[in-house]
Amino acid sequence: MPLMSVENLEITYMALGGRIKAVDGISFSLEQGEWMTVVGESGSGKSTLAYAIMRLVPPPGKITGGKIVFDGMNLLELDKEKLRKIRGKEIAMVFQDPMTSLDPLRRVGDQAAELFVEHEGLDMEEAKKRAEEAMRSVRLPQHVLNSYPHQLSGGQRQRVMIAMAMSLRPKLLIADEPTTALDVLVQEGIMELLNSMKEEGTSILLITHDLSLAANWSDRIMVMYAGRLAELGNTEDLVERPLHPYTKGLLDSVPDLWSDKEVKPIEGNPPDMRYPPPGCRFHPRCPMAMEICSKKEPPILSIDKRIVSCWLMAKEGGKA
Ligand code: ATP
Ligand code: SF4
Repeated sequence: MPLMSVENLEITYMALGGRIKAVDGISFSLEQGEWMTVVGESGSGKSTLAYAIMRLVPPPGKITGGKIVFDGMNLLELDKEKLRKIRGKEIAMVFQDPMTSLDPLRRVGDQAAELFVEHEGLDMEEAKKRAEEAMRSVRLPQHVLNSYPHQLSGGQRQRVMIAMAMSLRPKLLIADEPTTALDVLVQEGIMELLNSMKEEGTSILLITHDLSLAANWSDRIMVMYAGRLAELGNTEDLVERPLHPYTKGLLDSVPDLWSDKEVKPIEGNPPDMRYPPPGCRFHPRCPMAMEICSKKEPPILSIDKRIVSCWLMAKEGGKA
């Protein structure tokens, strides 16, 4: 049984000027110890999906349909108390800006220790020892414990967040653009930390717009476009043989250090989600679009170990 299965998830923002279905019928599963990365341009619904798993979709957003089954429980049916126990301990989340999760007025060590008091019932002395261990495990110097968050660099703050997330050994870690604000070397260090969590059995769900990061670190990649799943597959297969024109467009738009291939950005922009185009939402930008594409939504097809939603693949005999 997978650690988590998301079934037909729908998340709607009741925004002024119209409803936005930011996540529209997404289904996938995640195995224990698997690293899946969700990619897509800005506004495709990646962060909304991540927040939904923590049941933290900000208002005016609402989960309007579907199921998220985690370790046998439908997270959408849990009461507040059960959710509080699961957050941090079973499912941890790391955000792009660690300052959103750290209290600026309290020392890092006190905040880390509090986690162990709350989730493991330790007394303060024991909890402080665990906080020290946690910082050591991500190679942060001990003085960090006596520092306030603003006294640390962005990379150090992100390491603090990961140390806190790691130390409770969650079954799932969700990381939403954790390295976007950091330079490449620091980014590599953070990815290595996530990978060490994976090696100890934690499943990783990484959200990023950076396809090269996804290609370098994940077992599987899910490509989202305008709230829908475009393609999902094993990293190597998907990168070497993309089936969906949008995946191909994303791959063509990133430079490859090892070849002199031409970089070609995808023309046009993602749609205004208040008025998504009919049929396949990618059709106004798709170089392969056919007549049916603007009329009918493509089916979600299973081809070998790949899931893809495109009329081209339906013609080639993919199974719905
Ligand atoms: P990014 O990479 O820019 O973070 P994303 O893929 O994570 O983008 P989301 O942030 O999940 O996308 O947004 C998905 C859609 O939901 C967008 O069309 C966005 O305009 C809309 N949306 C997000 N937050 C809100 C909100 N608070 N109110 C109204 N609409 C929102
Ligand atoms: Fe392009 Fe049509 Fe496939 Fe959409 S369904 S990606 S428009 S070919």
